Amino acid sequence: MSFEMTTSSTLFERAKASIPGGVNSPVRAFGSVGGTPPYLVRGKGALLWDADGNEYVDMVGSWGPMILGHADDQVVQAVQEAAAKSLSFGAPHEGEIELAETVIERIAPVEQIRMVNSGTEATMSALRLARGFTGRDMIIKFAGCYHGHVDSLLAEAGSGVATFALPGSAGVTDATAHDTLVLPYGDQEALEAAFAEHGERIAAIITEAAPCNMGVISPGNFNEFLRRTADQHGSLLIIDEVLTGFRASREGFYGVDGVAADLVTFGKVIGGGMPVGAFGGRADIMQRLSPLGPVYQAGTLSGNPLATAAGLATLRQLEEPVYEQITTAGDALKRELTSALSAEGVPHTVNTAGTLFSVFFTDGPVGDYEAAKAQNTEAFAAFFHAMLDQGVYMPPSAFEAYFVSRAHDDAIIDRVVSALPAAARAAAQV
Ligand code: PMP
Repeated sequence: MSFEMTTSSTLFERAKASIPGGVNSPVRAFGSVGGTPPYLVRGKGALLWDADGNEYVDMVGSWGPMILGHADDQVVQAVQEAAAKSLSFGAPHEGEIELAETVIERIAPVEQIRMVNSGTEATMSALRLARGFTGRDMIIKFAGCYHGHVDSLLAEAGSGVATFALPGSAGVTDATAHDTLVLPYGDQEALEAAFAEHGERIAAIITEAAPCNMGVISPGNFNEFLRRTADQHGSLLIIDEVLTGFRASREGFYGVDGVAADLVTFGKVIGGGMPVGAFGGRADIMQRLSPLGPVYQAGTLSGNPLATAAGLATLRQLEEPVYEQITTAGDALKRELTSALSAEGVPHTVNTAGTLFSVFFTDGPVGDYEAAKAQNTEAFAAFFHAMLDQGVYMPPSAFEAYFVSRAHDDAIIDRVVSALPAAARAAAQV
C-alpha cells in the first residue's frame, strides 16, 4: 500500500505520540486492514467528511448509535436545549425517568432500569448484580460474543479481540478468568455438560441477543434454549442488547424472538450517540441494587441530562417506518453484495439477524466463532480499501456488522452499490 501524506496521516502520526496506537479504541487504528484512518470532521445523515475534504457514505454509524443518521435535527436540538440548562447535575432530574419509562413501556422483560455510561459498564454491572442476587460466582459466555472490555468477559471475545486474533487480554487475573466458562456459540450439548458439572455455581449465562461482534449470526432458537436451561438450574439469563437494542426492531431483538431475559443490557442507540449504557430487568433483581439492596453500583455522570436528552429524542423517532426503511436498504445491499462477490467468484456468506447483517469472506454456513475465523481477512481488507477509495466507509474489520441508518435512502444505497464491483474485483485478486 502506497503511503500518501494527507491531513489524516499527519494527524495519525501526531496522535501516536500522545495516545497509545493513536486511538482511543483499538479497531479504529485500521490495524487489521492497514492504512491510515480518516480523521473525521463532520457528519450529516448517512454522510461523513474527513479532514482532507473527502466525503464518505457511512456504513459504521459510530458502531450502532447513529440509527437516525448523523446530526439528526431533533436530537441536536434536544441536546442543545439540555446543555443550556446544565451539562451535569449528578442529581435526579425528570429526563431520566422519561427514558426509563420509554424503555420499560417498549421492552416487557425490563421492569426497572439503571443508566450507566457505556455498554461495558452495563454488562459489568449486570454480572455483579447476577452474582449478588444468586450468591453464585461462575458465568457462562460464548466464544466470539463481545460484551465490552470487562475483565471476566474478554476470553475469546469478538469485536477488536477477534479482529486482532487475540485469545483474551493480558492483565486479567487467573482467578477472574477461572470464573468464566467459554462455550462454543449455539452448542446445546456443551451448555448441558457445563451445567451438569458446575450447575450449582453458575450465576448467569450472558449472550449477545444475536451475535454481531464476530460478524452477524442468527441465534435461531438458541436464546429459547438458554432460557430453559437457566431456569432448570436457578441461573439468570443476561441478554446483551447493547448492539441489537432498538436496532434489530423497535423492541430490540426481544421483538424478534421474544425470549425474556432476567437482565438486559443496552448501549449505543439508547444514548443516540452520547456515552450511555443501561441495564434493566426483573424488578426483584434490580431492587437488589444500592441504595435498596447490597449490590453496589454508581456513577457521577449516570443519567446525565445531555445523554438522556439524546437518547429520548432518538427513541421517540424510532417507530415502524424507520425499521422498514432500514430493512429495505439492508435487503438491497445484501442482494447487491452477493451479486457483486458472486460475479467475481469471491467465497462469501451473508448472515442476517433482525435488521442486522454482515458478510463473511468464506463459504458458509457461519454459525459460530470457529466458522467466522475461517474467513479470508486479506480478501476483506482488499474489499474494504477499494470501498474506502470509492467513498464508502465500511467497518474496518471482517468481524463487524454493517450499520444502516434511516438516512440510507435509495440515492445513498446506489452510491454503495456502484462501488461494489470494483471492491469485489479487488477481493478476488487476493
Ligand atoms: N456488548 C455488545 C454486544 C457490544 O456490541 C458492545 C460494543 N460494541 C459492548 C457490549 C460494549 O459497549 P461499549 O463499547 O459502549 O463499552
